[in-house]
Amino acid sequence: MSDYHPMWKSLGLDLAAHDAMLQSVGQAYQETFLSQPNRPEGMKYFDFVISEVHGLRIKELLDAKAQGRKVIGSYCTFVPEELILALDGVSVGLCTGGDFALDLVDQVLPRNTCSLIKSAFGFKLGKVCPYIESCDLVVGENTCDGKKKAYEIMRRFIPNLHVIDLPQVKSEAGKGLLLAEYKRFAAKLEELTGRKLELGKLKAAIVTVNAKRAALKRLAALRQADPAPISGLDALLVSQVSFYDDPVRFTGAVSALCDELEKRVAAGQGVFAPKRPRLVISGCPMAFPNWKLPAILESSGAVIVGEESCVGERSTRWLTPENGNSVDEAIAQLVDRYLQIECAVFTPNPTRIEYAEQITRERKADGVVHYSLQFCQPYQMEAGPVVEQLEKDSIPALRIDTDYSREDEGQIRTRVEAFLERLHA
Ligand code: SF4
Ligand code: SF4
Repeated sequence: MSDYHPMWKSLGLDLAAHDAMLQSVGQAYQETFLSQPNRPEGMKYFDFVISEVHGLRIKELLDAKAQGRKVIGSYCTFVPEELILALDGVSVGLCTGGDFALDLVDQVLPRNTCSLIKSAFGFKLGKVCPYIESCDLVVGENTCDGKKKAYEIMRRFIPNLHVIDLPQVKSEAGKGLLLAEYKRFAAKLEELTGRKLELGKLKAAIVTVNAKRAALKRLAALRQADPAPISGLDALLVSQVSFYDDPVRFTGAVSALCDELEKRVAAGQGVFAPKRPRLVISGCPMAFPNWKLPAILESSGAVIVGEESCVGERSTRWLTPENGNSVDEAIAQLVDRYLQIECAVFTPNPTRIEYAEQITRERKADGVVHYSLQFCQPYQMEAGPVVEQLEKDSIPALRIDTDYSREDEGQIRTRVEAFLERLHA
């Protein structure tokens, strides 16, 4: 394996803290992923990507920058990757799935901030993220109040920050706001890259991103089979990798994985024995390297067969029309596509429950686990009505509110085991 320390040093990382982080993530990966039984061969690509997550992929980003391309980092599925690709940028999702440098984070954020926001700050303040240090532009979005105010503070540490304002209501006025904001973002990217947004390039970018999402939708549909051909942990990993891998290469790897899974399904092969309790997860996104709850669920005897989540089907279920006749029309089509995302920051947000129920029935799941991060107002507030509606519709539901620490693992496992017993009763 190459020694990437000189590259990390050139990015200004704290090498000792970074080495410690890589070691702890590598160990968690070994215990959580590599120890699983019957993994598809196609997961080897994703294992390789993870093994080089701070190595080869960062080198690729730096090579792209040397060729004059710009690297744009983002935190939310509302940031349209299509506009970035159309202007020859490289789009990377920034990690927000682990606790780092909490002592430094606590100096700038209130303690009762969700783990996801704290994580975004921890990676930056702890100087352990080569992605964020490679970015020419970081894009935030005004979703929840926590993020809105956090970006005001983040600007101190990341001057190259562009914040997209998002509507809170899916109305005509809301659509108008998003359209204006996507155009403002496109103008920012034009200024950064020195290029002009052209229809041909925008349509090509839409085709690329649609292909990626279509491959992920195909993977999701294959999880209907019993026995499930892939574990929920591996499916989550694929979703997590989708945010920072090269989109064309990623689509090829997911398609090859799906070819293999189709053969498994036809042969009745699965990762676990048939009739294992099948669960759908609904709620907050699980960003890399947040694997805590799925690891508990699957090591307790369940299999996860779907995620109503932004790291999951909430970010892939809609494709964008590829027939825009002008840049303006194509951007308007992007707005229509993105405004469907069922984030809990919208009011009201009824279709989120409908989709959670839809995939539960399609995947023949036995129940839903609603997952919220502590101090996440939108998802914790929405958890009550979602769980209530699911139970009313005869879908057993378990509500878990947690964070990125390991302290409550035992307690969660006890509740999960009781829930699985209820499903079997
Ligand atoms: S849950 Fe909402 S704020 Fe979070 S990534 Fe999804 S759309 Fe963005
Ligand atoms: S929507 Fe919730 S999980 Fe996401 S950043 Fe806001 S508070 Fe955190």
